[in-house]
Amino acid sequence: MKIRKNLLIDLLMKDNYSGNEGVISPMIIEELTKLGFEVSMDDIGNISAIRGKAERYPLLNAHLDQVDYSNNWISTYYSGKNSSDYLAYDKGLYESIEDFVDYMTKEELEEYFDCTNCSSTYKGCVDSVNNKICNRFILKFGDYAKAKKIAQNEYGLDFTMFDKTKNKEEFHITDVNGKLQGSGGRVLGGDDKCGIFIALEVARLNRKQPMKILFTVSEEIGCVGISHFIKFNKEWFDDVAYSITIDRKSGDNLLWSQCGTRSCSDGFASRMALAGIKCGIPIKVQDGSIADVVEIRDIVDEAVNISAGYYDPHSEDEYVLVSDVKKIIQWVRTFLKEEM
Ligand SMILES: [Zn+2]
Repeated sequence: MKIRKNLLIDLLMKDNYSGNEGVISPMIIEELTKLGFEVSMDDIGNISAIRGKAERYPLLNAHLDQVDYSNNWISTYYSGKNSSDYLAYDKGLYESIEDFVDYMTKEELEEYFDCTNCSSTYKGCVDSVNNKICNRFILKFGDYAKAKKIAQNEYGLDFTMFDKTKNKEEFHITDVNGKLQGSGGRVLGGDDKCGIFIALEVARLNRKQPMKILFTVSEEIGCVGISHFIKFNKEWFDDVAYSITIDRKSGDNLLWSQCGTRSCSDGFASRMALAGIKCGIPIKVQDGSIADVVEIRDIVDEAVNISAGYYDPHSEDEYVLVSDVKKIIQWVRTFLKEEM
């Protein structure tokens, strides 16, 4: 089995940080179309695709964005909030602050505005002791970069640890015996372009297999894309038999639960683990954390998240092992055929 390493490298070269997925979407849509899929894109950029006729489809899922490393302090800050509604507001999916306020409970608003002071005045505040600015403060200035600058200059916050001196233009990838590593200044983004690549290769190599594919935007800033897609396209999942999210570090993980809540049956997990072992992967069944699968598991009976072959994600040191990626492609291909 030969995989298209060049396509993987082409994807990894792109800086598709959350909100900038457009730098890879066109090539992905072109690929899917070539592979015989009927492709759609929704109003925020999620790409959904369907191929062939089946009563029940397998679904392959991955996310289109990567961590914006230069704004990593914001991702870190947001990830603690764990609510896609806040991000939905930031993304402009609510028309006005009044709409948003009507929609949220008092507790949720307090969480959004970080403190009771902010939730009564809708004004943002700066916590120079803990080096934090609140969401409202960011919103007040329209975008993160501006808010950050003001927080730095007027309130003396120190964000230098997040500042990047390296020029993003100079980004390049080294390939040492199939270990792909970026030159720094941003993440390589194997998380989750490996997931995208694996789904595309499985679709190419299992050419006759009917399947659905869903690639989502802004996963890294709070599963914004998947939440939006499910909200407006719930029926799309009616004929999905099972869902495989490909968005986990390393090469041998099968995540059958997230934050302690199971997302698939014992039978499904063991069939999937067995398929992996047949492909020479010493499968580790584990519990995972936040990913698109957390939303998908609520509407699809059998949902898992599996390794995508990237290591040290969300850092400049991130790398991808092509040998892992290849094995995972074989694993998913084998499982899909067996479940047909
Ligand atoms: Zn990811």
